[in-house]
Amino acid sequence: MSRRILITGASVAGNTAAWWLGRYGFDVTVVERAPEFREGGQNIDIRGVGREVLRRMGLEQTALDLGTGEEGTVWIDEHGQAVARFITDELGGDGPTAEMEILRGDLARLLYEPARKRATYRFGDQIQTIEDGDGSAAVTFASGKTEYFDSVIVAEGVGSATREMVFRGENDPRWMDLTIGYFTIPRQADDDRMWRWYNATDGRSISLRPDRQGTTRAMLSIRQPPAGEQDWTVDKQKAYLHERFADAGWEAPRVLAAMDDTDDFYFDVLRQVRLKRWSNGRVVLTGDAAWCATPLAGIGATLAVTGGYVLASELKRSADCAEAFASYERAMRPMVRKGQGIPKLAPRLMNPQTRLGIHLLHGALKMAAQPSVRSVFTKVFASEPVGPDLTRYDVLIGDRGSAGVGRR
Ligand SMILES: Cc1cc2nc3c(=O)[nH]c(=O)nc-3n(C[C@H](O)[C@H](O)[C@H](O)COP(=O)(O)OP(=O)(O)OC[C@H]3O[C@@H](n4cnc5c(N)ncnc54)[C@H](O)[C@@H]3O)c2cc1C
Repeated sequence: MSRRILITGASVAGNTAAWWLGRYGFDVTVVERAPEFREGGQNIDIRGVGREVLRRMGLEQTALDLGTGEEGTVWIDEHGQAVARFITDELGGDGPTAEMEILRGDLARLLYEPARKRATYRFGDQIQTIEDGDGSAAVTFASGKTEYFDSVIVAEGVGSATREMVFRGENDPRWMDLTIGYFTIPRQADDDRMWRWYNATDGRSISLRPDRQGTTRAMLSIRQPPAGEQDWTVDKQKAYLHERFADAGWEAPRVLAAMDDTDDFYFDVLRQVRLKRWSNGRVVLTGDAAWCATPLAGIGATLAVTGGYVLASELKRSADCAEAFASYERAMRPMVRKGQGIPKLAPRLMNPQTRLGIHLLHGALKMAAQPSVRSVFTKVFASEPVGPDLTRYDVLIGDRGSAGVGRR
């Protein structure tokens, strides 16, 4: 009998774990709340150890080929003029824009397509209760079924309901005072291949990023204390962004008009997920559900693929799930701690309140863009993530089907 594993959440972390566990011969079921595979989402990057994981899956080159084609980052002033420019190629393939920039939906699909060949996916369902027993966990689903699993991996993202049920009161979130709406808008002839970032007063910013789908990816962010906006309806969230950005200048009128028609809208009030433990009995957390570091850290997708891989590898190494979860946590904690260590000052500096603040930010960025100092800036802005020691785990295997390991 192979070990039965349930994964909830079919995005970056869940699909990576499913890929590897399926590869190792586990009997894997993935349950996703959405009625079908979730496309959508904006530009995310994969760096360092995360790229190594993709390499071991034989997916690194495809991920690069699917890249958004973003060539760098430029800050724009109120007249639409470039203030400071960081070209990725000139920064050794790093910087605010990484060499591997990919749309979240493309990355999730890249992982999902091979994963679903070796795992059973069920959409439109979710966990209702979990009862941890001696031999297995009994899981009841919203669809009414009850099934038994050796382990349950929760990869449901930052707002995970199963985490709140199994680790009630244990998450001590760190709010980052930043609210962001991401969505796709029609491309215009003068949208170039740069990530264009515009600051307006009152902590607002607008950014526009290229993709290869013939559209443009827009982001509106506001620096302010959280007020539960993540739980509003999409209509209310959009109305709120309309009101806040009406007088923001630059491309605001175009972006707001296009927001009304988009069906790809993702909104979040940034908060880190912080728990003292990531497992409870047979249930274990991974990805944003365990440790969301927020997009400010620029490391969320890297952590998600690394976490999915390390967790699957530890489950393969040990038939005792408590031992596997403990090793997984030991391996991932230092990387997560570092990823979450964003100074609270960062969103403040990047989203000034006043004209003077914006002026000072632009001055600093102008200096940082000088060839003599920009490599230092790059290290501060996008330092290479130091990950767990992967030498103890399997190196790729590609897509050759199950090796039959991990059975007992
Ligand atoms: C549609 C979408 C768009 C996104 N867009 C951006 C973006 O533009 N920029 C950015 O920086 N980050 C974005 N993110 C977040 C980003 O994907 C994550 O920060 C990161 O990649 C870590 O991924 P994850 O797999 O841990 O979590 P996520 O990518 O958040 O995935 C969690 C998955 O779990 C599913 N799920 C949630 N609750 C349940 C439940 N109770 N039962 C079963 N399934 C459940 C969700 O539908 C989702 O598929 C987006 C996420 C999603 C789902």
